[in-house]
Amino acid sequence: MKLLLMGPPGAGKGTQAEVLTKRLQVPHISTGDMFRKAIKEGTELGKKAKQFMDEGKLVPDEVTVGIIQERLAESDCKNGFLLDGFPRTVAQAEALSKILNDFDMLLDAVVNIQVPRENLIERLTGRRICRNCGATYHIVFNPPSNSVKCDVCGGELYQRSDDNEETVANRLDVYEKQTAPLVQYYEQQNVLNNINGDQEIKEVLKEIGERLGRDLV
Ligand SMILES: [Zn+2]
Repeated sequence: MKLLLMGPPGAGKGTQAEVLTKRLQVPHISTGDMFRKAIKEGTELGKKAKQFMDEGKLVPDEVTVGIIQERLAESDCKNGFLLDGFPRTVAQAEALSKILNDFDMLLDAVVNIQVPRENLIERLTGRRICRNCGATYHIVFNPPSNSVKCDVCGGELYQRSDDNEETVANRLDVYEKQTAPLVQYYEQQNVLNNINGDQEIKEVLKEIGERLGRDLV
């Protein structure tokens, strides 16, 4: 099964990706992981990507698309894959469609995990980390027994600067603005599946399975 997984920060996409790739026995193709790998292995595209990253610039589409193309050409993608983090724009989606067409492949479904904005803010701003041992907590979903101290080592708990409400709201704005046209694009292609991400992990998985016609739970 050839899938694309979409969802805003905090929607639980990582957790779902992990289970989906196991159940469907397809490789997880995450652009973030692939950039790191290409750079580590020093491929031509990896070198190009590194150059842009070192200069603090966004990696241009042609480089990202090239890396995806190389990856999809590998034999483990023949029977399916789970794309995660790509495409992010309609231009990239069109490039992907062309690559798949060249490989005689078709995207089976786009899974778009949706969670109301206020819940995402609650999820993303509630994280607390121990300054001493790095243990993570969530003030609502996984609270420490003492609100200011780590259960493991008694260290001081703090909130990372990019977990504050303003930064989180900004990240969500950027995500929504960027992906709205992409969601519309896949809706027009009749492959979009909006999934309610505001429920238990297992229920989310069950809903995805129902939409894909696979038993995932
Ligand atoms: Zn600790």
